Amino acid sequence: MPRTEKIGVYPGTFDPITNGHLDIIARGARVVDRLIVAVAVSTGKGPMLSLDDRVGLTRAVTSDVAQETGIVIEVRPFSSLLVQFAREVGASVILRGLRAISDFDFEFQLAGMNYRLDPSIETVFLMASERHQFISSRFVKEIAWLGGDVSSFVPPLTERRLEAWVKEQRQS
Ligand code: ADP
Repeated sequence: MPRTEKIGVYPGTFDPITNGHLDIIARGARVVDRLIVAVAVSTGKGPMLSLDDRVGLTRAVTSDVAQETGIVIEVRPFSSLLVQFAREVGASVILRGLRAISDFDFEFQLAGMNYRLDPSIETVFLMASERHQFISSRFVKEIAWLGGDVSSFVPPLTERRLEAWVKEQRQS
Protein backbone atom coordinates (compact mmCIF):
# COMPACT_ATOMS: atom_id res chain seq x y z
CA MET A 1 0.00 0.00 0.00
CA PRO A 2 1.51 3.41 -0.91
CA ARG A 3 2.32 5.43 2.15
CA THR A 4 1.01 8.97 1.99
CA GLU A 5 2.75 11.85 3.66
CA LYS A 6 1.17 12.69 7.03
CA ILE A 7 0.74 16.42 7.41
CA GLY A 8 0.04 18.05 10.77
CA VAL A 9 -0.91 21.60 11.71
CA TYR A 10 0.22 23.06 15.03
CA PRO A 11 -1.79 26.26 15.50
CA GLY A 12 -1.22 28.96 18.09
CA THR A 13 -0.63 32.62 18.73
CA PHE A 14 3.11 32.16 19.43
CA ASP A 15 3.37 35.57 21.11
CA PRO A 16 6.23 34.87 21.48
CA ILE A 17 7.40 31.31 20.79
CA THR A 18 8.75 29.63 23.97
CA ASN A 19 10.65 26.47 24.87
CA GLY A 20 7.22 24.94 25.66
CA HIS A 21 6.12 25.43 22.04
CA LEU A 22 9.49 24.11 20.79
CA ASP A 23 9.10 20.99 22.91
CA ILE A 24 5.67 20.34 21.36
CA ILE A 25 7.08 20.94 17.87
CA ALA A 26 9.92 18.44 18.45
CA ARG A 27 7.42 15.84 19.71
CA GLY A 28 5.07 16.61 16.83
CA ALA A 29 7.94 15.90 14.44
CA ARG A 30 7.81 12.28 15.64
CA VAL A 31 4.19 11.80 14.62
CA VAL A 32 3.98 13.59 11.26
CA ASP A 33 6.15 13.85 8.16
CA ARG A 34 5.48 17.53 7.56
CA LEU A 35 4.55 20.01 10.23
CA ILE A 36 2.89 23.32 9.52
CA VAL A 37 3.22 25.72 12.40
CA ALA A 38 0.21 27.98 11.87
CA VAL A 39 0.50 31.40 13.45
CA ALA A 40 -2.94 32.83 14.18
CA VAL A 41 -3.72 36.51 13.69
CA SER A 42 -5.36 36.42 17.18
CA THR A 43 -6.36 40.08 17.17
CA GLY A 44 -8.67 39.38 20.10
CA LYS A 45 -5.67 38.52 22.28
CA GLY A 46 -3.98 41.88 21.55
CA PRO A 47 -0.63 40.29 20.74
CA MET A 48 2.64 41.91 21.78
CA LEU A 49 4.27 41.19 18.40
CA SER A 50 2.79 41.81 14.96
CA LEU A 51 1.79 38.79 12.90
CA ASP A 52 4.84 39.26 10.65
CA ASP A 53 7.16 39.40 13.66
CA ARG A 54 5.64 36.27 15.20
CA VAL A 55 5.95 34.39 11.91
CA GLY A 56 9.55 35.58 11.41
CA LEU A 57 10.64 34.68 14.92
CA THR A 58 8.89 31.31 14.85
CA ARG A 59 10.51 30.54 11.50
CA ALA A 60 13.95 31.50 12.78
CA VAL A 61 13.78 29.41 15.95
CA THR A 62 12.22 26.33 14.34
CA SER A 63 14.83 25.94 11.62
CA ASP A 64 17.13 24.05 14.05
CA VAL A 65 14.34 21.63 15.01
CA ALA A 66 13.74 20.93 11.33
CA GLN A 67 17.40 20.11 10.86
CA GLU A 68 17.58 17.94 13.98
CA THR A 69 14.43 15.97 13.24
CA GLY A 70 14.79 15.80 9.47
CA ILE A 71 11.14 16.60 8.86
CA VAL A 72 9.82 19.56 6.90
CA ILE A 73 8.62 22.38 9.14
CA GLU A 74 6.79 25.27 7.54
CA VAL A 75 5.65 28.36 9.41
CA ARG A 76 2.59 30.09 7.97
CA PRO A 77 0.23 32.83 9.11
CA PHE A 78 -3.50 32.09 9.05
CA SER A 79 -6.68 34.01 9.69
CA SER A 80 -9.33 31.58 8.49
CA LEU A 81 -11.20 28.86 10.31
CA LEU A 82 -8.62 26.35 11.57
CA VAL A 83 -10.23 23.26 9.99
CA GLN A 84 -10.50 25.10 6.69
CA PHE A 85 -6.81 26.04 6.86
CA ALA A 86 -5.94 22.42 7.75
CA ARG A 87 -7.92 21.18 4.74
CA GLU A 88 -6.25 23.71 2.43
CA VAL A 89 -2.79 22.49 3.42
CA GLY A 90 -3.80 18.82 3.23
CA ALA A 91 -3.40 18.16 6.97
CA SER A 92 -5.14 15.23 8.63
CA VAL A 93 -3.96 16.06 12.15
CA ILE A 94 -4.19 19.14 14.37
CA LEU A 95 -1.56 19.12 17.10
CA ARG A 96 -2.12 20.94 20.38
CA GLY A 97 -0.03 21.09 23.51
CA LEU A 98 -1.53 20.34 26.91
CA ARG A 99 -0.30 21.85 30.13
CA ALA A 100 -1.82 20.83 33.49
CA ILE A 101 -5.55 21.05 34.12
CA SER A 102 -5.87 24.70 33.16
CA ASP A 103 -5.66 24.00 29.42
CA PHE A 104 -8.03 21.05 29.48
CA ASP A 105 -11.43 22.73 29.42
CA PHE A 106 -10.60 25.07 26.56
CA GLU A 107 -8.76 22.44 24.53
CA PHE A 108 -11.56 19.90 25.10
CA GLN A 109 -14.13 22.32 23.68
CA LEU A 110 -11.91 23.37 20.79
CA ALA A 111 -11.17 19.77 19.78
CA GLY A 112 -14.86 18.81 20.05
CA MET A 113 -16.04 21.70 17.93
CA ASN A 114 -13.32 21.20 15.32
CA TYR A 115 -14.27 17.53 15.11
CA ARG A 116 -17.90 18.48 14.45
CA LEU A 117 -16.79 20.91 11.77
CA ASP A 118 -14.61 18.29 10.07
CA PRO A 119 -14.50 14.71 11.41
CA SER A 120 -11.76 13.77 8.95
CA ILE A 121 -9.25 15.88 10.91
CA GLU A 122 -8.08 14.41 14.20
CA THR A 123 -6.80 16.52 17.11
CA VAL A 124 -3.80 15.01 18.85
CA PHE A 125 -2.61 16.30 22.23
CA LEU A 126 1.02 16.29 23.22
CA MET A 127 2.55 17.06 26.60
CA ALA A 128 5.76 18.98 27.00
CA SER A 129 8.43 17.61 29.34
CA GLU A 130 8.19 18.49 33.04
CA ARG A 131 10.82 21.18 32.50
CA HIS A 132 8.65 23.01 29.98
CA GLN A 133 5.14 22.19 31.17
CA PHE A 134 4.51 25.40 33.09
CA ILE A 135 5.89 27.88 30.53
CA SER A 136 3.40 30.29 29.03
CA SER A 137 3.92 33.19 26.62
CA ARG A 138 1.84 35.36 28.91
CA PHE A 139 4.07 34.92 31.97
CA VAL A 140 7.22 35.13 29.89
CA LYS A 141 6.10 38.59 28.71
CA GLU A 142 5.28 39.66 32.26
CA ILE A 143 8.62 38.46 33.62
CA ALA A 144 10.53 40.18 30.80
CA TRP A 145 8.57 43.39 31.36
CA LEU A 146 9.48 43.35 35.05
CA GLY A 147 13.16 42.78 34.26
CA GLY A 148 13.33 39.08 35.20
CA ASP A 149 15.53 36.48 33.53
CA VAL A 150 13.60 34.51 30.90
CA SER A 151 16.57 32.65 29.42
CA SER A 152 15.44 29.25 30.70
CA PHE A 153 11.93 29.67 29.25
CA VAL A 154 12.64 30.86 25.72
CA PRO A 155 15.25 30.40 22.98
CA PRO A 156 17.93 33.15 22.71
CA LEU A 157 16.27 34.81 19.69
CA THR A 158 13.00 35.18 21.58
CA GLU A 159 14.88 36.56 24.57
CA ARG A 160 16.47 39.23 22.38
CA ARG A 161 13.13 40.10 20.81
CA LEU A 162 11.59 40.46 24.27
CA GLU A 163 14.42 42.76 25.36
CA ALA A 164 13.83 44.93 22.29
CA TRP A 165 10.09 44.99 22.98
CA VAL A 166 10.62 46.11 26.59
CA LYS A 167 12.97 48.86 25.38
CA GLU A 168 10.49 50.03 22.71
CA GLN A 169 7.65 50.11 25.24
CA ARG A 170 9.64 52.03 27.81
CA GLN A 171 10.66 54.65 25.23
CA SER A 172 7.16 55.23 23.87
P1 ADP B 1 -3.33 29.75 21.61
O1 ADP B 1 -3.69 31.21 21.50
O2 ADP B 1 -3.88 28.91 20.50
O3 ADP B 1 -3.55 29.14 22.98
P2 ADP B 1 -0.50 29.56 22.19
O4 ADP B 1 0.61 30.07 21.34
O5 ADP B 1 -0.64 30.14 23.56
O6 ADP B 1 -1.77 29.77 21.32
O7 ADP B 1 -0.39 27.98 22.33
C1 ADP B 1 -0.41 27.11 21.22
C2 ADP B 1 -0.53 25.68 21.71
O8 ADP B 1 0.64 25.33 22.42
C3 ADP B 1 -1.69 25.43 22.68
O9 ADP B 1 -2.20 24.15 22.43
C4 ADP B 1 -1.04 25.50 24.03
O10 ADP B 1 -1.77 24.75 25.00
C5 ADP B 1 0.31 24.86 23.71
N1 ADP B 1 1.36 25.24 24.65
C6 ADP B 1 1.85 26.47 24.89
N2 ADP B 1 2.82 26.43 25.83
C7 ADP B 1 2.94 25.13 26.21
C8 ADP B 1 3.75 24.41 27.15
N3 ADP B 1 4.61 25.04 27.95
N4 ADP B 1 3.61 23.07 27.25
C9 ADP B 1 2.70 22.43 26.48
N5 ADP B 1 1.90 23.02 25.58
C10 ADP B 1 2.02 24.36 25.43
